Amino acid sequence: NTNILEWLVVSCVVRGFATSLVSEDKAAQSLLNKLIRNNLVNTTNQVEVLQKDPNSPLYSVKSFEELRLKPQLLQGVYGMGFNRPSKIQETALPMMLAEPPQNLIAQSQSGTGKTAAFVLAMLSHVDPNNKYPQCLCVSPTYELALQTGKVIEQMGKHYPEVQLVYAIRGNKLQRGMKLQEQIVIGTPGTMLDWCGKFKFIDPKKVKVFVLDEADVMIATQGHQDQSIRIQRMLPKNCQMLLFSATFEESVWNFAQRIVPDPNIIKLKREEETLDTIKQYYVLCNCKEEKFQALCNIYGAITIAQAMIFCHTRKTAGWLAGELSREGHQVALLSGEMQVEQRAAVIERFRDGKEKVLVTTNVCARGIDVEQVSVVINFDLPVDKDGNPDNETYLHRIGRTGRFGKRGLAINMVDSKMSMNILNRIQEHFNKKIEKLDTDDLDEIE
Ligand code: ADP
Repeated sequence: NTNILEWLVVSCVVRGFATSLVSEDKAAQSLLNKLIRNNLVNTTNQVEVLQKDPNSPLYSVKSFEELRLKPQLLQGVYGMGFNRPSKIQETALPMMLAEPPQNLIAQSQSGTGKTAAFVLAMLSHVDPNNKYPQCLCVSPTYELALQTGKVIEQMGKHYPEVQLVYAIRGNKLQRGMKLQEQIVIGTPGTMLDWCGKFKFIDPKKVKVFVLDEADVMIATQGHQDQSIRIQRMLPKNCQMLLFSATFEESVWNFAQRIVPDPNIIKLKREEETLDTIKQYYVLCNCKEEKFQALCNIYGAITIAQAMIFCHTRKTAGWLAGELSREGHQVALLSGEMQVEQRAAVIERFRDGKEKVLVTTNVCARGIDVEQVSVVINFDLPVDKDGNPDNETYLHRIGRTGRFGKRGLAINMVDSKMSMNILNRIQEHFNKKIEKLDTDDLDEIE
């Protein structure tokens, strides 16, 4: 029995560790996305809308004027360079700004305008004459909360009467004080303490409750419960808004506990396809040979910008060194870098300051650099069990039909095992990956 108990303890600890890694990874990925994103993700997909009351008319707007915003806010919106509402904003904004306020659950990929939408809703609903918190917004991490705070500051630039405060660990307030700021943004634990234990906020006076990045939120232990406990303190007529980039079952269950009688808006991700990609593989015996093959490819064709994926940090570091020695301007993305450093590397690469980006799998998830025409899998993507990671493969080299640019993908194969993986990837997508002879490269251009 003690054995079983021990095993249970160990497995729980390990599992806890694994979850915290996953959640950190998710939060870091999300932050990275925000740091490198400077415009909207365009989409040709239509939003799917499920209304709480299917008989009420569905409004959607094509301009910010139609929303009858306060002039200071309209000025803020235009000041940020927004000309018209994004796809999700077209329907989400009228719902959020309606009287009486409506609850909303909205899902769309990162970069589609969710944050801007709920920030505008919060700023529209506060009464600056009332010196107490009226909007609460919870985010999964301190860094993500700061990013949202920045958007509030930008959009509210011409509305200085509205004040903002961060409910984050480390922001210590004097006992017994009452907050005067109208908007509070923070992490669930501190927000809960400020509403409950310390009573810095009177939850009964809150008009809007926003839960951002629900999918990242539930990956952290405790956040779900804390969020629900905050929600229970709020008045019945408080507007509840929840946003998420993805919508698994677990997110959906959580969303329904946070948001009663919701309207639901979903925006499908643009499909990625391999149709416009020429895929090749090169047979080698070791990493030195792979490097030589890479040099031959560089010698034979003009490559504007390439991304090269390696399995480990060590290989990535080694390869970046070898390439620099050959005279390439190389950028290296590596796991031990801080998110801000990674964002800076990606930005430089996007601006064309370096022509080659060498990276490990983990770092580059979710980055899209449209002008990259060549992707090289120096190592094929595999999951933790060593099986082909088809999803990552597609995401690395696939293009959304919309960009339609032709691309070139080259896979380096250096063992029976990796040949097997390549074959399985080929079967999965049912698209031929041609063999390339790097001593005779006439065929690829
Ligand atoms: P999400 O929260 O879905 O990740 P954001 O609200 O952060 O998306 O928006 C992504 C990027 O697009 C940001 O740089 C933001 O400033 C910009 N953006 C948002 N809404 C608009 C709009 N209507 N017009 C132009 N740019 C926008």
